[in-house]
Amino acid sequence: MPAPQCSSCRAARAALRRPRSGQALCGSCFCTAFEAEVLHTVLAGRLLPPGAVVAVGASGGKDSTVLAHVLRELAPQLGVSLRLVAVDEGIGGYRDAALAAVRRQAARWDLPLTVVAYADLFGGWTMDAVACSIAGTGRSRACCTFCGVLRRRALEEGARLVGATHIVTGHNADDMAETVLMNFLRGDAGRLARGGGLGSRGEGGALPRCRPLQLASQKEVVLYAHFRRLDYFSEECVYAPEAFRGHARDLLKLLEAARPSVALDLVHSAERLALAPAARPPPPGACSRCGALASRSLCQACALLDGLQRGRPRLAIGKGRGGRDEEGPPGPLPPPPSDPVSAPGPAAGECGAACKERCE
Ligand code: SF4
Repeated sequence: MPAPQCSSCRAARAALRRPRSGQALCGSCFCTAFEAEVLHTVLAGRLLPPGAVVAVGASGGKDSTVLAHVLRELAPQLGVSLRLVAVDEGIGGYRDAALAAVRRQAARWDLPLTVVAYADLFGGWTMDAVACSIAGTGRSRACCTFCGVLRRRALEEGARLVGATHIVTGHNADDMAETVLMNFLRGDAGRLARGGGLGSRGEGGALPRCRPLQLASQKEVVLYAHFRRLDYFSEECVYAPEAFRGHARDLLKLLEAARPSVALDLVHSAERLALAPAARPPPPGACSRCGALASRSLCQACALLDGLQRGRPRLAIGKGRGGRDEEGPPGPLPPPPSDPVSAPGPAAGECGAACKERCE
């Protein structure tokens, strides 16, 4: 049976049915509609004011690739300028290839690219070195907990380095729905209450962050990359998860079969959630080491690095008996293991969470 006519231009054959609306569109009309929807998300949410210098967290993966491409198309209308900022976590056999994809994108789209490395920012610690260090504690599933916190810090540092006023990341509706589900299933009310909205306004001196693709489904992000013939890196990180996010993803797929709008419904539910006054944590203060926003004496990134320094990464992820504040003030950053490659590390797929949990 021949494909139906595109319901928008009525000139070309439809190449897809939009997953949520069922609308039959050709590739060109779909891409135009997708870009218009992202533009609407940015304008309606007042995410990026005219004149903003926007740091795009670029990982080489499909989401950040689509985000950079769409924002580049929209930049003249929005009146913003773009900088690509990539983070090199120091993950052998993975990040080099992903960074090569980011470099190709920067060259093709004529966008300035800055790469910031964990090793430079965090006293020589790479993610491989961190993985080695935490493997001996039986906490190898915590790789992504460390990495997500450090990535967030690294992206902030990179954005400041390039003079950015705003940070954007490539989280899509499915990523956000998975996060909402995970937080529900873990009973993490604090994160649930913080998880709504399209981003953060930049509390405590941090740069404002937003997620312009938050209302776009994963399927449509992939379709956009396909029709625009975007070159992206699709392999999984060597520490990538079997983890809890995978269960949330499977559950979401099951729910989607019965209710196609479930991902967006979850995202919108999270926007309306608020903690009861009695359950609200005290307002955060400033980290005693770096000045970033912190709910304890150290922010998460400094606490993680401090735990590594003490050789007690278990403390760093908040599992010590008395919590991470029990051992007195932090010292200088420690050196990483001298030979992280030969030390025992976690097997592939042992991480505790997916990349999208807190990084980008
Ligand atoms: Fe980092 Fe985990 Fe993402 Fe790998 S999968 S880049 S370790 S957060």
